[in-house]
Amino acid sequence: MDYKQYIKIVEDWPKQGIQFKDITPLMDNGKAYKAAVDEIVEFAKEKEIDIVVGPEARGFIVGCPVSYALEIGFAPVRKEGKLPREVIKVDYGLEYGTNVLTIHKDAIKPGQRVLITDDLLATGGTIEATIKLVEELGGIVAGCAFLIELSYLDGKEKLEGYDVLTLMTY
Ligand code: AMP
Repeated sequence: MDYKQYIKIVEDWPKQGIQFKDITPLMDNGKAYKAAVDEIVEFAKEKEIDIVVGPEARGFIVGCPVSYALEIGFAPVRKEGKLPREVIKVDYGLEYGTNVLTIHKDAIKPGQRVLITDDLLATGGTIEATIKLVEELGGIVAGCAFLIELSYLDGKEKLEGYDVLTLMTY
């Protein structure tokens, strides 16, 4: 399927110079959304995944239907102060300043095989931080899946050695 027809590119949003890739038209089209999720489910099936992990908020949009289809759990990665119980956290650099991501301490059991999902791979900072959280809990990152990769930002370099699926490349 040509998924790109369902991605709207918004110039200079949220700030000057950014070409925002809006996935909401894809989510709005039931057949396209399902086809994209199905491709990730097929990718995951060969990897004997125990749990899906995704960073807020668009990692949920991709990861939750995958976990539903595979009849396995989903663990959210959230910004600091959002998860109600004991968490581990990781700081990572943004273009300006830093961000903190957290996961519940008991979200993943040591040895569990994890699929990480997000809508888009840009610089790779978010996925790198998410991998750190999963591995600190003893999880094995068996795959990472994205709808979109911005290849000009070289995020894939941070994912060397990991099995990565992307459905669209810009
Ligand atoms: P990064 O940590 O740089 O790989 O950025 C990835 C996160 O930022 C993803 O969760 C995306 O939702 C969001 N993101 C970064 N750049 C864009 C963009 N150009 N269009 C849409 N979302 C983006």
